[in-house]
Amino acid sequence: MSNYVEMWKELGMDLETHDALCQVLPTAFGDMYLSQENRPEGMGFWDFVVSEIHGIRPSELIEAQKNGQKVFGTFCVYVPDEVVLAANGIVTGLCGGSQFWVPGGEKVLPKSTCPLIKASVGARLERTCPFFRIADMYVGETTCDGKKKAWEILGQDVPMHIMDMPQMKRPQDIEKWADEIKIFAKVVEDFTGNAITPEKLSEGIHVINERRKALKRVYDARKSKNIPISGKDALLMMQIAFFDDPVRCAEMANKLADELEQRNKDNVSVFPAGTKRILVTGTPMAIPNWKLHHLIETSGAAVVCEETCTGTRYFENLVDETKTTLEEQYAAIADRYMGINCACFTPNSGRVDDILRLAKEYDVDGVIDVNLKFCCLYDTEGYTVEKAMKDAGIPVLGIETDYTDEDAEQLRTRIEAFVEMLG
Ligand code: SF4
Ligand code: SF4
Repeated sequence: MSNYVEMWKELGMDLETHDALCQVLPTAFGDMYLSQENRPEGMGFWDFVVSEIHGIRPSELIEAQKNGQKVFGTFCVYVPDEVVLAANGIVTGLCGGSQFWVPGGEKVLPKSTCPLIKASVGARLERTCPFFRIADMYVGETTCDGKKKAWEILGQDVPMHIMDMPQMKRPQDIEKWADEIKIFAKVVEDFTGNAITPEKLSEGIHVINERRKALKRVYDARKSKNIPISGKDALLMMQIAFFDDPVRCAEMANKLADELEQRNKDNVSVFPAGTKRILVTGTPMAIPNWKLHHLIETSGAAVVCEETCTGTRYFENLVDETKTTLEEQYAAIADRYMGINCACFTPNSGRVDDILRLAKEYDVDGVIDVNLKFCCLYDTEGYTVEKAMKDAGIPVLGIETDYTDEDAEQLRTRIEAFVEMLG
């Protein structure tokens, strides 16, 4: 990594502890990623981003702040990026995906909190992630109980706005979400000092739609019988999409999609013919959580799709771009975001429909339903998901795990047995 020490110092980071993190990441990335054969050339961009993960994008964000822009840190795919863009703000995802940050979170949260929340709180309070230091405002949401309580702790350390999420998707709930987006827009306007106009919001909607379309193109290429990219590489692209510049993200994803489409024409695959195709569904996998994908792809199978927030939930469905007044635009944004099917909603039958549809579209041999330990929402919904898969004759394996490597060998045994059972 280039020398960013001065920048980290100015951000008030704990340099000694941060050094320890910088030392483990390259080894993990080398073992899991660079050891893969025949990777698409387009992955070079994401490899570079990882090699400079705490330097290159943070320095861009700091530069933007010097030019008067505000950075908003978000934790959930329901928070509408387009509203922030419309006020010339920048969004950066802040979900923590490393065990490194979990003990810091456990100092203030119950151990029985999901690792994603513990890692996110730990990354902020222990001062070991530049993104958590740079964000001028955090935007939380009332999705799960763990997050709701975590916002109260983080809110003591950094300006925080919380969006009140509906728990159901009746027409009145969708209307309420449109109101909540309007309230968020006012907060963003006040914080940035920039008015949101219909023209500006149209631009924001367009930019984020273009990113969605580009990411979808990469996913569409994964539907081919030929497997042009590993699940691990596709996951990396998704994880970095959360904090990259959205225009550059779309450009790089489109470039990668061009290459994958060509690979499909030329029958260039990263796995031997006949490799079993897996759909992963469940809780999000924030960077650098590559554990499950690595286990699956070193156990004789390939991940061809993720029905997760670091997968299809992030880019499926577009916001209607034909609306011309702010009222109509907020309603259109609410409609699109309420099409995401997270386990925090009840009922959430749309998620089962999504998994069944995706299993067909991506021609999968089996589904692995993953739950982050202590996420009772996805854990409970696992019953419905797994029953629906069995009813549809789709082999399914339910897994619960965390960010540690303690269960890796046990998981490997179960995954290998599952893949073998697929024939
Ligand atoms: S799983 Fe639910 S709460 Fe978590 S990021 Fe996705 S939509 Fe948000
Ligand atoms: S994985 Fe579950 S418990 Fe963790 S933040 Fe997401 S919804 Fe909440």
